[in-house]
Amino acid sequence: MGETVRVGVVGWPVKHSRSPIIFDHWFKAYGIDAHYDRIEVKPEEGERFFADLAASDLAGVNVTMPHKATAARFAVLDPAGVRLQAINTLWRDGDRMAGTSSDGSGFLKSLDAQAPDWRRDGPALILGAGGAAVSVADALAAAGVRVRIANRTHEKAAALAALVGAEAVPWERLPAAMEDTTLLVNATSLGMNGSGPLDLALAPLPHDATVADLVYYPLETPLLRDARARGLVAVDGLGMLLYQATVGFERWFGIDPTVDDALRRAVLATM
Ligand code: NAP
Repeated sequence: MGETVRVGVVGWPVKHSRSPIIFDHWFKAYGIDAHYDRIEVKPEEGERFFADLAASDLAGVNVTMPHKATAARFAVLDPAGVRLQAINTLWRDGDRMAGTSSDGSGFLKSLDAQAPDWRRDGPALILGAGGAAVSVADALAAAGVRVRIANRTHEKAAALAALVGAEAVPWERLPAAMEDTTLLVNATSLGMNGSGPLDLALAPLPHDATVADLVYYPLETPLLRDARARGLVAVDGLGMLLYQATVGFERWFGIDPTVDDALRRAVLATM
């Protein structure tokens, strides 16, 4: 019998991570002998951890706050990693570690799965300019979609727009910007349980627009409920959470795993 493969998620704090549930589901589904750990690494210990990672017994890791930028300094980066200089997935490449940021590609996979007919001709309008917005804006722009960004703090929208080659839209001009928007993405924390609601009337959106929310708790946010009520296709945030994990699984085990209802239910049961 071969040895149990060791992988995990590195962060601080990391005990609330749902990643072990996702990976355990796939280990069972594909009969893989592996263990996925929550690996607590204090902020000041990040450099040492990633410098030593290739010499450890880990086959690869996911990375969460606050280590994504540190991890990028100790890995051979793919194009998304080079653009963002922050990564969340590392795997072995010869005697080194390689890495990427899988949030953006996870978002695109989720969009393709939940809204196969989403209009790629754009413009896509992203609300927010935090960490999640950066990944989504980068992935959409890299896929050739015209991107607009609006954020409460306009300077951050302008900086992100400059980074990915997008247009920054003042928050107060959202209704006008929505008139030709084919894909609206909420990448703010508004709508999440414990935060205020995203107070946005969807009436200006074209009838064939898609509305995606990165918030996944609750799964059906007021934004998605309003979108469905208007007859628009709605894409929830759980899909992105699950599809971003497929990237590491494929790198570590050579299988692009299925995101199915059983997996969605298993993760939802923990919320
Ligand atoms: P973040 O870096 O803290 O950014 C938060 C964003 O929300 C900023 O753009 C912020 O605007 C905006 N915001 C916060 N309060 C606001 C308010 N009252 N009015 C208007 N805008 C407000 O957070 P993040 O990591 O990007 O995460 C954003 C959301 O995406 C969270 O709900 C998170 O759970 C979700 N997420 C989901 C996934 C997934 O896999 N589905 C992955 C990552 C994140 P300012 O710049 O003006 O502060």
